[in-house]
Amino acid sequence: MTELLFRADAYATEFEAEVLSAEAGRVMLDRTLFYPEGGGQPGDQGLFLLPDGRELRVQDTRKGAVPGDVAHHLADATLVLAPGIRIKGRIDWERRHRLMRMHTCLHLLSAVIVAPVTGGAVGDGYGRLDFDLPESPEREEVQEKLNALIQQDAPVSFRWISDAELDARPELVKTMSVQPPRGGGQVRLVEVEGIDLQPCGGTHVRRIGEIGTVFISKIEKKGKQNRRVRLEFPALATTINS
Ligand SMILES: [Zn+2]
Repeated sequence: MTELLFRADAYATEFEAEVLSAEAGRVMLDRTLFYPEGGGQPGDQGLFLLPDGRELRVQDTRKGAVPGDVAHHLADATLVLAPGIRIKGRIDWERRHRLMRMHTCLHLLSAVIVAPVTGGAVGDGYGRLDFDLPESPEREEVQEKLNALIQQDAPVSFRWISDAELDARPELVKTMSVQPPRGGGQVRLVEVEGIDLQPCGGTHVRRIGEIGTVFISKIEKKGKQNRRVRLEFPALATTINS
């Protein structure tokens, strides 16, 4: 089991850990700040600093073969680290913060469009949610409502509830295709004050004002009952339109 340090503090960027096991190009640690791909959010990238001064690039983070393990994928796919050594880890914070902003923004979008969520994904600078909806919502109206919510700058907090409490409140689960993260009989509830409450194991900004301005780039029809809403941050919108 890897201790998931980002669950307690999504703003920490550096940590120390011990190598528990390693195979070519993959490293398992006793604890980590690297978020493993899941719940539509990509895995973190960053660096490992070894005791001998070497720097290793971590190019992806995934869930390990054993439940509860996190596998750090090294850019050097042939390297094997010795179990027992202590490393320092540093996540690519600028990328992670963009992912946190977009991930939190998708919580807000699920509050603006009141319909069951059938899927979603977060990328670096963009994201999408799929809704079970027969008609497309109006793009500019959704965009205005979303940006007005962001300007409210509501705080984001989390708390743990038991599996039994969650089972007693099925209305909290908005995403039909993704089961909430469970472990040890506890589920983490993420609350955007006054706006959204749902189980989520991802990383979020502390206040939604950090998200900044977003664009709805497209609302696509993906099947009779499915509408895909695509979001972008302005810098990326500029790149795509130029
Ligand atoms: Zn979330």
